[in-house]
Amino acid sequence: MDKIKKSDDEWQAQLTPEEFKVCRQKGTERPFTGEYDKCEETGTYVCKCCGHPLFSSESKFDSGTGWPSFFAPVDDSAVDDEEDNSLFMRRTETLCAKCGAHLGHVFPDGPQPTGLRYCMNSVSLKLVRGD
Ligand code: FE
Repeated sequence: MDKIKKSDDEWQAQLTPEEFKVCRQKGTERPFTGEYDKCEETGTYVCKCCGHPLFSSESKFDSGTGWPSFFAPVDDSAVDDEEDNSLFMRRTETLCAKCGAHLGHVFPDGPQPTGLRYCMNSVSLKLVRGD
Protein backbone atom coordinates (compact mmCIF):
# COMPACT_ATOMS: atom_id res chain seq x y z
CA MET A 1 0.00 0.00 0.00
CA ASP A 2 1.25 3.46 -0.87
CA LYS A 3 1.45 5.44 2.35
CA ILE A 4 0.40 9.07 2.52
CA LYS A 5 2.84 11.37 4.24
CA LYS A 6 2.12 15.05 4.88
CA SER A 7 3.58 17.70 7.14
CA ASP A 8 1.69 19.01 10.14
CA ASP A 9 1.11 22.26 8.24
CA GLU A 10 -0.51 20.37 5.38
CA TRP A 11 -2.75 18.37 7.73
CA GLN A 12 -3.67 21.49 9.65
CA ALA A 13 -4.77 23.21 6.45
CA GLN A 14 -6.98 20.25 5.55
CA LEU A 15 -8.56 19.42 8.93
CA THR A 16 -10.60 21.24 11.55
CA PRO A 17 -8.75 22.00 14.80
CA GLU A 18 -10.49 19.09 16.58
CA GLU A 19 -9.79 16.67 13.72
CA PHE A 20 -6.13 17.72 13.74
CA LYS A 21 -5.87 17.27 17.51
CA VAL A 22 -7.40 13.78 17.49
CA CYS A 23 -6.08 12.39 14.19
CA ARG A 24 -2.59 13.86 14.10
CA GLN A 25 -1.87 14.49 17.79
CA LYS A 26 -3.53 11.38 19.26
CA GLY A 27 -6.27 13.23 21.08
CA THR A 28 -9.58 11.78 22.25
CA GLU A 29 -13.00 13.29 21.66
CA ARG A 30 -15.26 13.56 24.69
CA PRO A 31 -17.49 10.46 25.01
CA PHE A 32 -21.14 10.65 23.91
CA THR A 33 -20.41 13.76 21.83
CA GLY A 34 -19.31 12.22 18.53
CA GLU A 35 -21.31 12.21 15.33
CA TYR A 36 -21.24 8.40 14.95
CA ASP A 37 -21.60 7.13 18.52
CA LYS A 38 -25.30 6.31 18.07
CA CYS A 39 -25.28 6.12 14.27
CA GLU A 40 -27.02 3.05 12.84
CA GLU A 41 -26.89 3.95 9.16
CA THR A 42 -25.34 1.50 6.75
CA GLY A 43 -22.19 2.19 4.82
CA THR A 44 -18.41 2.22 5.10
CA TYR A 45 -16.50 4.29 7.60
CA VAL A 46 -13.42 5.75 5.90
CA CYS A 47 -10.47 7.71 7.29
CA LYS A 48 -11.27 11.40 7.79
CA CYS A 49 -7.75 12.31 6.70
CA CYS A 50 -7.25 10.19 3.57
CA GLY A 51 -10.50 8.36 2.69
CA HIS A 52 -9.05 4.88 3.26
CA PRO A 53 -11.87 2.36 4.01
CA LEU A 54 -11.61 1.29 7.67
CA PHE A 55 -14.82 -0.21 9.10
CA SER A 56 -18.15 -1.47 7.77
CA SER A 57 -21.38 -0.55 9.56
CA GLU A 58 -21.94 -4.33 9.68
CA SER A 59 -19.24 -4.67 12.33
CA LYS A 60 -20.49 -1.74 14.41
CA PHE A 61 -22.06 -2.39 17.80
CA ASP A 62 -23.25 -0.33 20.74
CA SER A 63 -20.53 -0.67 23.37
CA GLY A 64 -22.11 1.83 25.73
CA THR A 65 -18.78 3.64 26.02
CA GLY A 66 -19.83 6.77 24.14
CA TRP A 67 -17.55 6.12 21.18
CA PRO A 68 -18.37 4.31 17.92
CA SER A 69 -17.21 0.71 18.34
CA PHE A 70 -16.53 -2.08 15.88
CA PHE A 71 -15.56 -5.74 16.28
CA ALA A 72 -13.39 -5.81 13.14
CA PRO A 73 -11.87 -3.59 10.44
CA VAL A 74 -12.93 -4.06 6.80
CA ASP A 75 -9.84 -6.20 6.30
CA ASP A 76 -6.57 -7.01 8.03
CA SER A 77 -4.59 -4.40 6.13
CA ALA A 78 -6.99 -1.49 6.80
CA VAL A 79 -5.51 -0.51 10.16
CA ASP A 80 -2.21 -0.77 12.01
CA ASP A 81 -1.94 -1.61 15.69
CA GLU A 82 0.74 -0.10 17.88
CA GLU A 83 1.60 -0.47 21.56
CA ASP A 84 0.66 2.65 23.52
CA ASN A 85 1.95 2.93 27.09
CA SER A 86 0.96 6.56 27.64
CA LEU A 87 -1.18 7.73 30.55
CA PHE A 88 0.17 4.85 32.71
CA MET A 89 -1.92 2.33 30.79
CA ARG A 90 -0.98 -0.49 28.49
CA ARG A 91 -3.20 -0.10 25.45
CA THR A 92 -3.08 -0.87 21.75
CA GLU A 93 -3.49 2.13 19.52
CA THR A 94 -5.28 1.79 16.17
CA LEU A 95 -4.00 3.83 13.24
CA CYS A 96 -5.07 4.25 9.62
CA ALA A 97 -2.73 1.96 7.66
CA LYS A 98 -2.52 4.44 4.80
CA CYS A 99 -1.86 7.80 6.45
CA GLY A 100 -1.11 6.95 10.08
CA ALA A 101 -4.08 8.87 11.48
CA HIS A 102 -4.85 8.11 15.11
CA LEU A 103 -8.25 6.40 15.19
CA GLY A 104 -8.56 5.16 18.77
CA HIS A 105 -7.66 1.99 20.67
CA VAL A 106 -8.53 -1.71 20.40
CA PHE A 107 -9.44 -3.78 23.47
CA PRO A 108 -9.87 -7.56 23.94
CA ASP A 109 -13.38 -7.33 25.41
CA GLY A 110 -15.53 -7.09 22.28
CA PRO A 111 -18.30 -9.34 21.00
CA GLN A 112 -17.95 -12.41 18.80
CA PRO A 113 -16.85 -13.34 16.18
CA THR A 114 -13.56 -11.58 17.00
CA GLY A 115 -13.80 -10.69 20.69
CA LEU A 116 -12.29 -7.32 19.84
CA ARG A 117 -13.58 -3.84 20.51
CA TYR A 118 -12.22 -1.13 18.23
CA CYS A 119 -13.07 1.98 20.23
CA MET A 120 -12.86 4.82 17.72
CA ASN A 121 -13.18 8.58 17.65
CA SER A 122 -16.03 9.84 15.47
CA VAL A 123 -13.91 12.73 14.26
CA SER A 124 -11.35 10.30 12.83
CA LEU A 125 -14.03 8.72 10.66
CA LYS A 126 -16.35 9.67 7.83
CA LEU A 127 -19.36 7.51 6.96
CA VAL A 128 -19.83 6.91 3.25
CA ARG A 129 -23.47 5.85 3.20
CA GLY A 130 -24.66 2.96 1.09
CA ASP A 131 -25.05 -0.82 1.27
FE1 FE B 1 -5.94 7.73 6.68
